[in-house]
Amino acid sequence: MEKVAIYPGSFDPVTNGHFDIVERGLKIFDKIIVAIMYNPAKQSLFSIDERVEMLKTSMQDFNNHVEFASFNGLTVDYAAQRKAHAILRGLRAVSDFDYEFQMALMNRRLNREIQTLFLMTGLRWIFTSSSIIKEAAKFGGNIEDMVPPIVNEKIKEKYAGN
Ligand code: ADP
Repeated sequence: MEKVAIYPGSFDPVTNGHFDIVERGLKIFDKIIVAIMYNPAKQSLFSIDERVEMLKTSMQDFNNHVEFASFNGLTVDYAAQRKAHAILRGLRAVSDFDYEFQMALMNRRLNREIQTLFLMTGLRWIFTSSSIIKEAAKFGGNIEDMVPPIVNEKIKEKYAGN
């Protein structure tokens, strides 16, 4: 049976840290569904379509082992609908732990069949987050070492004129 995980997040935009988690995850799973959580309450820089396009371009070498999607509602419901065995999450510094722990326990209460699996990010990406990247790029900072080339390009376009 094909082992499938869903990797939920905002991916606004995808960073090398997200890429690292997918790469590691593919050593365990046959397929990873990178799923953008649609959350109207959270202000985003990129539209869902733009985020999917950047994800697709930056992860094209993973071929059909990675799929891209977006969803509304509970992550566990979406995972069950996609017949995923696990929810994949990345851990950076200790600061991620508290929130991720709460979420994983809540998700387990909601659906006991789906496990949450945490993978440690590569040391290089321990301080990389979409929000810090946006913050730096907004003021003209060079972020090219932290994001796939397509993201570097698109983020510059977004902030051009600032
Ligand atoms: P969220 O809005 O839920 O934080 P993100 O898109 O920022 O979503 O992140 C999705 C997942 O990727 C989360 O599990 C997050 O911890 C993880 N992640 C984000 N940045 C990194 C990174 N630099 N290294 C490893 N994991 C990361």
